[in-house]
Amino acid sequence: MVTTHNLGFPRIGAKRELKFALENYWKNESTRDELKAAGAQLRERHWKDQAHLDFVPVGDFAFYDQVLDMSFTLGNLPERVRGFHGDALDNAFRVARGRSAQNDDAHGACCGGVTAGEMTKWFDTNYHYIVPEFDANTQFSLDPSRLLEQINEARALGVNVKPVIIGPVTYLWLGKAKDDSDKLALLPRLLPVYAALLDYFTAQGIDWVQFDEPVLVTELDAKWRDAFVTAYDALSARRIKLLLATYFGPLQDNLELACKLPVDGLHIDAINARDEVAQVAAKLPDAVVLSVGVINGRNIWKTDLNAVLEWLEPLHGSLGDRLWIAPSCSLLHTPVDLNSEQKLDAEIKSWLAFALQKLDELTVLAGALNNGRESVADALDANAAAIESRRVSPRVHNPAVKAAIARIDAALGKRVSAYPQRAEKQSAILNLPAFPTTTIGSFPQTGDIRHARSQYKAGGLDQAGYKAAMEREITRAVKEQEALGLDVLVHGEAERNDMVEYFGEQLDGYAFSQFGWVQSYGSRCVKPPILFGDISRPKAMTVEWIRYAQSQTTKPMKGMLTGPVTILNWSFVRDDQPRSVSCHQLALAIREEVLDLEKAGVRVIQIDEAALREGLPLRRSQWSEYLQWAVESFRITANGVQDETQIHTHMCYSEFNDIIASIADMDADVITIETSRSDMELLDAFDDFDYPNQIGPGVYDIHSPNIPSQDHIVNLMKKAAGRIPPERLWVNPDCGLKTRAWEEVIPALKNMVAAAQTLRQSV
Ligand code: GLN
Ligand code: ZN
Repeated sequence: MVTTHNLGFPRIGAKRELKFALENYWKNESTRDELKAAGAQLRERHWKDQAHLDFVPVGDFAFYDQVLDMSFTLGNLPERVRGFHGDALDNAFRVARGRSAQNDDAHGACCGGVTAGEMTKWFDTNYHYIVPEFDANTQFSLDPSRLLEQINEARALGVNVKPVIIGPVTYLWLGKAKDDSDKLALLPRLLPVYAALLDYFTAQGIDWVQFDEPVLVTELDAKWRDAFVTAYDALSARRIKLLLATYFGPLQDNLELACKLPVDGLHIDAINARDEVAQVAAKLPDAVVLSVGVINGRNIWKTDLNAVLEWLEPLHGSLGDRLWIAPSCSLLHTPVDLNSEQKLDAEIKSWLAFALQKLDELTVLAGALNNGRESVADALDANAAAIESRRVSPRVHNPAVKAAIARIDAALGKRVSAYPQRAEKQSAILNLPAFPTTTIGSFPQTGDIRHARSQYKAGGLDQAGYKAAMEREITRAVKEQEALGLDVLVHGEAERNDMVEYFGEQLDGYAFSQFGWVQSYGSRCVKPPILFGDISRPKAMTVEWIRYAQSQTTKPMKGMLTGPVTILNWSFVRDDQPRSVSCHQLALAIREEVLDLEKAGVRVIQIDEAALREGLPLRRSQWSEYLQWAVESFRITANGVQDETQIHTHMCYSEFNDIIASIADMDADVITIETSRSDMELLDAFDDFDYPNQIGPGVYDIHSPNIPSQDHIVNLMKKAAGRIPPERLWVNPDCGLKTRAWEEVIPALKNMVAAAQTLRQSV
């Protein structure tokens, strides 16, 4: 018999119940007990939803973040919150976001706010965890209460529980040593705490524990590999079975190591490492369970069940009871329930599976393995029909798009002339002063804008009324910018609620869900659009708005687009073709928009690539392949224009050191980046690499309500001028201003323009 299990379930709730419960509590609109009850209710629902599996995960639920919860279990609290004497949940919120609820009961008055913990991305996903903090003196002490309580809760429902925890090596790897001490030196102190936790589980009669060690799919040096041996040698002495879980990629050079560790089971990601399954099966010692992740835990497509059975059946034949099946990783990264979708096109819906449907697929596979395919013939037939309908659908496959992809050649991504010639022609036309000023695109999304948008969606405002409302906003943004004296203006993006969704909605090949939410961090969720088919652009998407904006001013107006790599990285993408092909399709579609803007007389066009860096693969050895097609896609989008048209790009970060050559290779005339918070230190990258084109290092931290002073901005720009020739510098904020209020934006930009004027006197 094959065993079915799940690595983790999305906890936010099919209707984002957890989000609303958290935010109500933080706003003081509910009590801590009500919040805890909402959490318990979600756990109960989710366990019941998974009850058809042989093992359900326990410990995957977190009010804020599972890594933060692990820090609390291990007693690794930052020094600044140790004195807190209220409820541990409130203290966890203080670590996560600087404070808990506003009321005194949460010890706001006595214990106060603290600096929030650092947050960073969970491997190559869009989930963000709270970084564990270490120093040379870090001590650990076990608090098993959360896990033990949840084990009891789950057992009361009659499900078979498997606690899920982050393994010790990955836990250390995820954290940051604040004093630059060696994190691995903490391992001997950490292991007894894990061992004690395992003893608690044993005392509860727990059979299996899942240890998540996804760092095994990254490049590890000898020290980290040795840490695995030390850790699991120590833990294997406990009387409980350990399932070591790896996911998000192939094991590659860690494959031997993973197969040799003294554990009772190994989970591998058969979506990303299908090639390694046979090798791992052959290498694992005889008694060790092999769990294969056969359902993609990172996207929303139905699994081709018959195709999986083709290779899974022989494996089951040879492994027998030692075979377990599961999703490839925790389902945290998928929405909860496809059945919530009422508006999704029926045909497209028939191709999809969210978390609950993925677990149903798992049960069908288990049925086929245990009792033969005939026993689940109906389910397999329905699945095969859906897979076939998607495979041949004319909505997915557009021969004209495929032909255009086949025609791509190097010339498509090449500007007519090199940067120096272009710069000369552009400056003759644009006639900008030294240290030209601009903004990144969006202006405040006011209540008026949101109201008009929701009215329009609900049918209370017609097309003409909506257009008029947006034009009023554009006019306002233009007038404000003229009054401020900015040099290159923007239209303000009032008509866009999201920089990817706006384009997705107008491109053929995209679908949108109502409830396809995925947790990003804490209570925040994103709803990635679903890229299901060949991408084409039925008509111009932004030209009318920009033309209108240009008609309101004689200053140059910047056209504003989202680039292909960012659209790709923030969508659920196709699994039936490489990401690079989808990216090239997006590139061709956005290229048409660029050319239409140029034709409409737009002289400056910005193509945002906010998410280019986050698409980097986990292993460095795969970076160059990604960067190659990502940069090529940008070039295809941007570089069809005449020399006179100035191309800008924008990125929401500036840790460029390791990819600066690729950034330069994009060949944008101007790049704006986020730097103000780091005091321009991030410009280090430009010390060793002679970046050839123009740069606007951000001087206004738009994530903060603070207004930067003129002097502050002048100082930042002087630092920048120490690294980049002043004639190639622009003055601009870190990012778009949509989350700020006009009352903040006006004085900040006033200071920015005044700073630019001061700087001009110095050259
Ligand atoms: N043009 C976008 C804006 O200003 C850029 C946003 C981003 O980089 N995330 O809102
Ligand atoms: Zn940005």
